[in-house]
Amino acid sequence: MKTTTTNSLVHQDIQQFLASSRKMLIDGKWTESASGKTFQTVNPATGKVLGHVAEGAQEDIHRAVQAARQAFDTGPWRRLSPSDRGKCMWRLADLIESHTEQLAQLESLDNGKPVTVARVADVPLAADLFRYMAGWATKIEGHTIPLSVPYTPNTRYLAYTLREPVGVVGQIIPWNFPLLMAAWKLGPALATGCTIVLKPAEQTPLSALFLGELICEAGFPDGVVNIVPGYGETAGAALAAHPHVDKVAFTGSTEVGRHIVQAATGNLKKVSLELGGKSPNLVFNDANLEAGIPGVASAIFFNHGQCCCAGSRLYVEKGIFDQVVSGVAEEAKNIKVGPGMDPTTQMGPLVSDEQQRRVLGYLESGFTEGAEAVTGGHRVGESGYFVEPTVLVNTQPTMKVVQEEIFGPVVCAVPFTDVEEVLQQANDNIYGLAAAVWTEDINKAHRIAAELKSGSVWVNCYNIFDAALPFGGYKQSGWGREMGHDALELYTEVKAVCVKT
Ligand code: NAP
Ligand code: MG
Repeated sequence: MKTTTTNSLVHQDIQQFLASSRKMLIDGKWTESASGKTFQTVNPATGKVLGHVAEGAQEDIHRAVQAARQAFDTGPWRRLSPSDRGKCMWRLADLIESHTEQLAQLESLDNGKPVTVARVADVPLAADLFRYMAGWATKIEGHTIPLSVPYTPNTRYLAYTLREPVGVVGQIIPWNFPLLMAAWKLGPALATGCTIVLKPAEQTPLSALFLGELICEAGFPDGVVNIVPGYGETAGAALAAHPHVDKVAFTGSTEVGRHIVQAATGNLKKVSLELGGKSPNLVFNDANLEAGIPGVASAIFFNHGQCCCAGSRLYVEKGIFDQVVSGVAEEAKNIKVGPGMDPTTQMGPLVSDEQQRRVLGYLESGFTEGAEAVTGGHRVGESGYFVEPTVLVNTQPTMKVVQEEIFGPVVCAVPFTDVEEVLQQANDNIYGLAAAVWTEDINKAHRIAAELKSGSVWVNCYNIFDAALPFGGYKQSGWGREMGHDALELYTEVKAVCVKT
């Protein structure tokens, strides 16, 4: 097979990993797709083929669901002590950590992100998530509940709740943080004793498959984690609709989120969704701009703007608007754009030609409607899917670039005059995933945090993630919270037991 990565920068394990077509993980075995088909995954820095992957579709999903069903209903996973479940997850975290370089390189090659970032963010966050969730395995508790049943006044009861795993879980993840999204999904499901069929994004299946090898090495029983790469319209849709899947967890676009909800109606499986965002970032006259300017720049440019919580609407109080906009533009100009594997690169390519076209299309629509770029606005180079970090001004609240999720390195900067006005604009969006406030007035920060309709609010910081901190959206940004102990609720059922004593 042809690969474009046989250079000395690439870890030998990864050269080997890419040298043959990758299979899917079903019931603890690496298997070809039922159709025998494979699909290509592309290196977005070059546009050239990086590797080939088995193309899962309906039949493969069915086999994987059956394996997960059997592993849940009759396998050892649920019968392991919670402590042993936790130890297995902890072993996986250790393996992730000891393969940091391999995973970081794979993430960079497949997704485009700088390897230097993947090394310090994506991979350690994934290991941390498994450790945090491993700790919960022994702490999933019910309650005892005093009863006062009015029609049996002389009878006493012992009533308690059990928190039990929801069952077989289908998990569909996007391409922006391929390994980390797999960890966010798998961690709480494993801690609670569920079994899983995971479908990675077609653009970035490789790190999930590498993780699958580590999962096998960590000693999870067969069928507990099944990984089926494939296309959303076939493999993803089959998983969301499958009658033997008890719950589906999805991260991706709001549009596909609606399909997931519809597909789930057949057996009314539980659904959790982590969808899009258009997050407002509010900078007040009294903000510390020395920290604030690089802070708001990285809020949008981190991961090339391909973050569901990217700070893509920048609202700046009038007195400092010009200073902040020129500061952010300066930060943007200084970002070194290049291939993710180059250790000096600060921003890599977007994930695909489709994503590059989408982002350039948004820029075009903004320019047609009268927006202006203070910096950026174009693609970079002729090969690879690079787009300049871009700062737009002269926008109107109704423009597509202000209302819709661009999912690229594009921020719209808008001046405001008072708190009421900026809150009205900040909340004037179908999404409600994240927001931030930059001010030195702590009372104002708390007041505004309470008024913002979003699942996360950062104050004088941005993109701070921790396995213990719940993450998820208000409004059309989703249903449910991932991470933190809230995530356990997504993967458990509550059973009420009432005993006459
Ligand atoms: P997407 O289509 O929503 O993809 C997310 C996941 O859903 C992928 O695994 C995808 O498979 C799968 N999928 C697609 N159609 C499906 C269906 N009918 N049933 C079940 N699963 C399905 O996202 P995208 O097309 O890659 O990106 C489009 C836009 O979505 C982006 O520009 C961005 O605005 C938004 N997005 C948001 C997030 C987020 O974290 N909130 C992440 C990624 C993208 P395939 O890989 O085959 O498509
Ligand atoms: Mg897609």
